[in-house]
Amino acid sequence: MRQDFKISYSRVSTYLFCPYKYKLIYLDNMHIPVNADITFGHIIHKTLEQFHSETEQSYDNLFEYYDSSWKKDGFTDPQQIFEYYNRGKHMLENYYKSFSESEAEVLYVEKAFDANIGKYRFIGIIDRIDKYSDGTYEVMDYKTHAKIWEQERIDKDLQLSFYAYACRNVFGFNPDKIAVYFLSDNKKIYTKRSQMEINVAVNVAIEVAEAIAGENFDPDTSKCQFCNFKLKCKYSIANYS
Ligand code: SF4
Repeated sequence: MRQDFKISYSRVSTYLFCPYKYKLIYLDNMHIPVNADITFGHIIHKTLEQFHSETEQSYDNLFEYYDSSWKKDGFTDPQQIFEYYNRGKHMLENYYKSFSESEAEVLYVEKAFDANIGKYRFIGIIDRIDKYSDGTYEVMDYKTHAKIWEQERIDKDLQLSFYAYACRNVFGFNPDKIAVYFLSDNKKIYTKRSQMEINVAVNVAIEVAEAIAGENFDPDTSKCQFCNFKLKCKYSIANYS
């Protein structure tokens, strides 16, 4: 049984999508092809991390960081770059306005955690944690894609359950508010996690860790048509469709 690996939300979700995809990425070091959405997400996350790392946050600095974070990897043509760039600008203008009007203190941005679940090491990074003057905490996950998720999907989201686990068990506070922050619409959608729901999520992570330790990497070909590796994977059935 191997135990020389860490568990994270990305790893768990990749394994649940297809165990063989997990092997391709994390054991065979195959890279997911970069596209405009992936690069754009990195640019926005990096911009906001730099913005909040300053002791005083200004509008000018936000856009300076935005410009310096830009890269063209994965974009298909100048028109697409132009469209994404303007989308990001609009997004950050709204973000700045909401941030300036918020009474909460931004406590952490891109806050890493490292915990043990069972005999496995469990790591992750939380996009943002705010603290309000009444002592309550708000935990956020940024999303940069255009589509807003349904409440049901947010209520079941595994990553938010892992965030809640880390807040309670690593950082020692209760996440009173848990939000997915859809930056394209400058809209937060809130959810909650009970201790029972957190336990269920942790058990999912442990089950995945056990399967990885047991080197169970059977392909799930029902997902091939949605997979980044559908043109490269030897088990792909999407090659022939
Ligand atoms: S192409 Fe299909 S079998 Fe191969 S990694 Fe992707 S989902 Fe799994």
